[in-house]
Amino acid sequence: MQWQGRQGSENVEDRRGQGGSSGGFSGNFGGNLGGLLGGKGCGCGGGIGTIIVILVLWLMGVNPLTLLQLSSELPTQQTQTGEYQSSAEEDSMMRFSEVVLKLTEDVWTDIFNQMGKTYRKPTLVFYTQGTQSGCGVADAAVGPFYCSADEKIYLDLSFFNQMATQFHAGGDFAYAYVIAHEVGHHVQKLLGTLDQVNAQMARSSKTVANELSVRLELQADFYAGVWANHTDSQFHILDPGDIEAALNAASQIGDDTLQKETQGYIQPDSFTHGTSKQRYTWFNKGYKTGDISYGDTFSANPL
Ligand SMILES: [Zn+2]
Repeated sequence: MQWQGRQGSENVEDRRGQGGSSGGFSGNFGGNLGGLLGGKGCGCGGGIGTIIVILVLWLMGVNPLTLLQLSSELPTQQTQTGEYQSSAEEDSMMRFSEVVLKLTEDVWTDIFNQMGKTYRKPTLVFYTQGTQSGCGVADAAVGPFYCSADEKIYLDLSFFNQMATQFHAGGDFAYAYVIAHEVGHHVQKLLGTLDQVNAQMARSSKTVANELSVRLELQADFYAGVWANHTDSQFHILDPGDIEAALNAASQIGDDTLQKETQGYIQPDSFTHGTSKQRYTWFNKGYKTGDISYGDTFSANPL
């Protein structure tokens, strides 16, 4: 992706090095995988540390019991002292993310205009370890997520390294897909889908709620694909292999693939984000059509 030298978004907050309010669960990678790329509609305010983290993780499909056991062994406060030292590589990834965010702003502003609507731009928050969000305390180990209460996307840049080394999903356009997926949740918020589905999930059994979550996540993948289509045709900055890298990332973070890797078996009832094939298919559909009217994952059957 040819992003160098392009204008970045100004809707960012750099909270790196400001310390976190929780010690992090980085040693418990398996237990946290279910939360990858989550979009949360929780308007819970926040401030009660562990309880909020657990609630948030539960909403993202992570078993809170695992975390309860772990969190009791972790320090509850961790404050960094001195100035934050970032590497040149990390600064470059931050610049890259700002450029991607700007590209999503341009594309979605156009699409919303065509629908006679106004696109309200979300904020991208860069943080390390942990930070306060409108949905509670964010921990780096939960992976990138969108909080609809404050309309912000939370990103710890080290996640991109994890994608490359642990998920076999490296490449700049794979990282762009992650940001575009979170922006997809923001689009759902603006279109009213997120609140509607969250309300429905609150009234449903766990199994039904999980299925609704899958449909929500696949739609965010679809919107990421729509964004990729428009970025490609309007700005001509994609390199050969970019779309394949994003499709590979979508596939590598499918629930079935992650469960097989982390627990050795698959539990379809517990899926919250969709299988590898479904994630691949919906991103690809968005990319091929470039038209949000093809993204009704809620009436699609089978998915
Ligand atoms: Zn998501």
